[in-house]
Amino acid sequence: MSSVFLKLIFTYFAMIFIIILFIFIIIIYTSETNLLPNNSGYIWPVPGFTYISSYFGYRDSPTAGASSYHSGIDIPATEGSDVLSICNGIVTFASWGAGGGYTLVIENNDVSVSYCHLSPIFIVYKNDEIQAGQVISHIGPKNVYGIENNPYRDSYGLPTNGATTGCHLHLTIKKDGKAVNPLEYLSIPN
Ligand SMILES: [Zn+2]
Repeated sequence: MSSVFLKLIFTYFAMIFIIILFIFIIIIYTSETNLLPNNSGYIWPVPGFTYISSYFGYRDSPTAGASSYHSGIDIPATEGSDVLSICNGIVTFASWGAGGGYTLVIENNDVSVSYCHLSPIFIVYKNDEIQAGQVISHIGPKNVYGIENNPYRDSYGLPTNGATTGCHLHLTIKKDGKAVNPLEYLSIPN
């Protein structure tokens, strides 16, 4: 009689132990994947366009005003294509950004992501809360009009959407204020 009772008690505690262990494993697993910079939680910003015309780092400056140190990557895409937020965050800048042309900056803790040469028609605004994968803008035109004293010009002398030679997304990722290679965070889709 008492051994049956002990078995029941043992089974009862064993089951509780297994359930607690299971919960711990889930908590540890999810928190670790959130901390990994290279995990698939970052979303490719321009669906359907995977060619990178200019990588992060030093390069020959392609046009006046474009840096020879390239702070991000350039992804050429058709004007009007969707631009997705690569991560969750808050919009901290949504305006004309000189060499970046029409620019959005979305920040998430110590990571700040800039999207440049966007459409002049903004669909998200400063202080908006953004989800990873949300459409935040569209690939902008090469030429833009209506910016006073826009110093950026193409070979015809027409004003351009920042320092750009054609429609593309320039993406900069800063970690603790320092530009890092975006490909440490993003993987190019197949
Ligand atoms: Zn660029």
